[in-house]
Amino acid sequence: MHGAALPAWVALAYLVAGVFFILALRGLSSPESSRRGNRFGIAGMAIALVTTLLHYYPTRAEDFPIEWHAPIDWNTLWLIGGAIAIGAVIGLTTARRIAMTAMPQLVAAFHSLVGLAAVLVAAAAYLNPDAFGIAADGVINPVSRIEMGLGAAIGAITFSGSVIAFLKLNGNMSGKPILLPARHVINLGVIALILGLIAYFTTDQSPFVFWTVAGLSFLIGFLLIIPIGGADMPVVVSMLNSYSGWAAAAMGFTLQNSAMIITGALVGSSGAILSYIMCRAMNRSFLSVIAGGFGGDAAVAGGAGAAIDRPYKRGSAEDAAFLMKQAEQVIIVPGYGMAVAQAQHALREMGDLLKKEGVSVKYAIHPVAGRMPGHMNVLLAEANVPYDEVFELEDINSEFARSDVAFVIGANDVTNPAAKTDKSSPIYGMPVLDVEKAKTVLFIKRSMGGAGYAGVDNELFYRDNTMMLLADAKKMVEEIVKSLG
Ligand code: NDP
Repeated sequence: MHGAALPAWVALAYLVAGVFFILALRGLSSPESSRRGNRFGIAGMAIALVTTLLHYYPTRAEDFPIEWHAPIDWNTLWLIGGAIAIGAVIGLTTARRIAMTAMPQLVAAFHSLVGLAAVLVAAAAYLNPDAFGIAADGVINPVSRIEMGLGAAIGAITFSGSVIAFLKLNGNMSGKPILLPARHVINLGVIALILGLIAYFTTDQSPFVFWTVAGLSFLIGFLLIIPIGGADMPVVVSMLNSYSGWAAAAMGFTLQNSAMIITGALVGSSGAILSYIMCRAMNRSFLSVIAGGFGGDAAVAGGAGAAIDRPYKRGSAEDAAFLMKQAEQVIIVPGYGMAVAQAQHALREMGDLLKKEGVSVKYAIHPVAGRMPGHMNVLLAEANVPYDEVFELEDINSEFARSDVAFVIGANDVTNPAAKTDKSSPIYGMPVLDVEKAKTVLFIKRSMGGAGYAGVDNELFYRDNTMMLLADAKKMVEEIVKSLG
């Protein structure tokens, strides 16, 4: 099948699937159209799957007006059907059961599977090249060797990198950077070795070369991600997303499957664009994030909770309700803790009550609040918060100075003024929401001890105009709602 042009109907169906995927991406670019976007994605994937199955496994030649490619192989068909069924059941149950807070690690876990799949396809093509039509008498053609070398390498990096990202996001591994001495030299050396071996693979297809490429790539995936910590994790997640796309595209060339090439390229490029946007939002250079751990030494030294014993003001739900009732404008700043507590519905209720009192209510979303891009937007949309009350950082930051109350609910790093002033802080340079400029800052978190994702203390807690509301976010907001009602 390699080299042979796809039958016209298959090429056309893949093209239609590709158009659906582009419409899906378009839809996903805004919360209003994201459901439609998702449906386009599902339709595109269904078309691609059915087309692939029909193309390679027509049941009876005369039943389908399509080109005959392979004799019917019921065993294989059952195997494929069985694998799809098992995958579908696992996917459906996971999607139904997964808590919104565990979404980022689920995404990382799924990326690792895409990487692993690319490695397995490359290995299958390597071990049985004649079946893939990429070899003559067992000698794999050199272009396919480069494709499978790259597919295996990017796939392996995606796999091991995503596993580390999963462990960090899931809390099994510290979010702090782990810094090996001379890591940049080691990393560059290993990457150069991988590229050299892929080049050499075109002249010598021995198993040693192929498996060494795969093994070294697994290793570099680990090495590249362990030094990345603190505030740079969002970029890593979208970067791994991008890698998983490129791995699929590389294997699409080996399999001569244009749907895979299109889909892989779409995932690869949209992931790369998202990484770039995240870097800009966080004032990080893409290269320094990828190289990992720049400024990370400070993260380790910075540590958490150094100032736990400092005096702070503590308030109650009644105090908060009283202050907000009097206010002209309240800006709500949601963060990861809102997601953990699932406080978004209670929060919307609070906003509604305040609006009834004539208070102007706005929501300020930091680009990396929560644990995945768009995390807060998704939760607020789920609670039916009107889109026109939700503002991005650059559109609302100047308004804090004109607001009576900044209501910080489970956000921490994204409000930390150290990002503006403390060069030794791991989040230094990241733009933050200027909540301290509001007349009063109400700050919900469970205890004074708990730090944010970057593991650093937040000087805001101890300011004169800050009142700490120490409780679970949902409970606290429900009590405020009671006091307002
Ligand atoms: P943070 O992780 O900085 O802070 C979360 C805060 O919520 C903590 O102060 C915590 O304190 C509090 N909290 C946790 N659970 C609850 C609860 N049930 N009720 C009340 N409060 C709670 O969150 P931010 O959203 O401010 O910042 C996001 C961080 O995550 C950034 O550093 C970002 O770089 C990183 N990140 C972002 C990703 C993304 O794509 N958006 C991906 C990966 C990482 P306490 O424990 O005391 O309650």
